[in-house]
Amino acid sequence: MTNGKTHPTWCAPESDCAATALHLSRLRPVAPRGDEVIQIRLGLWRMDVGRLSPSGVLLDLSAGDEPERWPIDLMQAHALVRVLQDLLRTANAEARRVA
Ligand SMILES: [Zn+2]
Repeated sequence: MTNGKTHPTWCAPESDCAATALHLSRLRPVAPRGDEVIQIRLGLWRMDVGRLSPSGVLLDLSAGDEPERWPIDLMQAHALVRVLQDLLRTANAEARRVA
């Protein structure tokens, strides 16, 4: 589309990317019940600017009011997974000790 780049297949029709050059996927909730105090949703984003086209994962955090949206780059998204897994291993080991 813009800059001759291909349009990502995951881009949601409501993203309004033709006007903003920011492609956004539908957001996937991670809250298992839906009534958690802080709810997190995740999606993909890609911005068509210049030749590099930064992309990554969008963190959407809300506590009942307007969500905060933070587009993080792919490298940090991958690092986030590693850090989360490491932290969860520690937390799970602790929970097993306490149980
Ligand atoms: Zn798009």
